[in-house]
Amino acid sequence: MQPSPTSFDAAVVGTGIAGMAAALALARRGVRVSLLGPRPALPDARPDVFDPRVYALSPASQDFLMQLGAWGAIPPERITAVEAMDIAGDGATVHLAAAQAGLPALASIVEGQALERALRTALQVFGVPWTASRFTGLTRRTDSSDLELHVEGGARLATRLAVAADGAASPLRAAAGLSVQQRDYDHTGLVVHLDAELPHLGTALQWFTDHGVLALLPLPDTADGAQVSMVWSMPRERAAELQALPPDDLGPRLTAMLADVTAGRLGRLTPRSALHGFPLTLLTAPQIVARGVALVGDAAHVVHPLAGQGLNLGLGDAHALAEAVGGREAYRGPGDERVLRRYQRGRAEPVTGMRLATDGLYHLYQAPVGLLRFAGMRLVEQLPFAKRALIRRASQF
Ligand SMILES: Cc1cc2nc3c(=O)[nH]c(=O)nc-3n(C[C@H](O)[C@H](O)[C@H](O)COP(=O)(O)OP(=O)(O)OC[C@H]3O[C@@H](n4cnc5c(N)ncnc54)[C@H](O)[C@@H]3O)c2cc1C
Repeated sequence: MQPSPTSFDAAVVGTGIAGMAAALALARRGVRVSLLGPRPALPDARPDVFDPRVYALSPASQDFLMQLGAWGAIPPERITAVEAMDIAGDGATVHLAAAQAGLPALASIVEGQALERALRTALQVFGVPWTASRFTGLTRRTDSSDLELHVEGGARLATRLAVAADGAASPLRAAAGLSVQQRDYDHTGLVVHLDAELPHLGTALQWFTDHGVLALLPLPDTADGAQVSMVWSMPRERAAELQALPPDDLGPRLTAMLADVTAGRLGRLTPRSALHGFPLTLLTAPQIVARGVALVGDAAHVVHPLAGQGLNLGLGDAHALAEAVGGREAYRGPGDERVLRRYQRGRAEPVTGMRLATDGLYHLYQAPVGLLRFAGMRLVEQLPFAKRALIRRASQF
């Protein structure tokens, strides 16, 4: 006979940043929650060595992480405030400054590992149980509203609500029968940290070109001087060609390509870390809830990284789900259909808005409509209210 499964109000499957934040937020709303997913070792932070994965987090995401006790645990010297942003395309530039909207910063750049470390500490402080294994299957009980999550190795977890935070390929989403629409952008996001000859002055820079979108995000200065994080989304073939170059050829080639696009804005740019590539896709789950199951983070949506908003959306999901479940009527269970519908309704507008904005921008810059794009950039630059609206939108989840 199998032992009876351990039972929780909620179980979060997936231990990335969205999953950890969702578990913490639910725990802080008094929900008995457990985490299920791998717990890989995190290397200790070293001065002048920066995690290749960095995130631009909105003020709303920072506030949420602060409430969770995670933001304050990140060493401040590893966080960079983005005070302004210059977006260039077709010969025109839009300059957005945080001060224009009365904000101290448009966003903050933080390393993935630093954020993960801080979330793990907060989870430990809060005593959230973590099963460091993989989800393998889902059974719906017929005698109650409980779900059973099957865990690699044979253990089971009983829960009233299962939260899928297990990434774009989400095994829990598939087991719950939730479908997705997916489109390949045929672009790769190339990521590398660069030494910059000139200071970045806390400004994020972005260039829209016919061949993709280049972003340079400010990072803390190192002993070698200023550094920025590059995210360059470019056609897959062109990216593969660069990735295949021997290290001795890659540096000079990238430096030359960057000089071409940036016109020396930050002086000479040279790689200071390995080059990583991420295939870019658009993924939408038309329904983000099913009976007793809710999707958060990339399990629910993947957007083009040109606006740096994917994780911000995931943190917005975590916040909204904890509010819906934590604030439910006493007679409703955590996986109650109406509670989950409230969560789904609350996320429809921000997620659809961001998907349309990023996908729309991507396609605008693939089309041969230079004059229209130029007119649009010039118009935004000359309209202070349009700039304030852009900044306000970017400061939310
Ligand atoms: C180039 C690039 C740049 C980006 N820049 C930004 C940015 O600046 N700002 C921003 O907000 N977003 C950015 N994003 C988006 C961001 O990276 C993602 O939205 C975010 O990492 C998704 O987090 P997640 O926790 O939902 O999913 P993931 O990070 O994919 O985590 C999923 C977790 O589920 C676990 N898992 C998988 N299968 C199982 C299983 N069977 N059982 C248990 N656990 C399982 C995995 O181990 C993993 O821990 C960028 C994306 C790219 C590609």
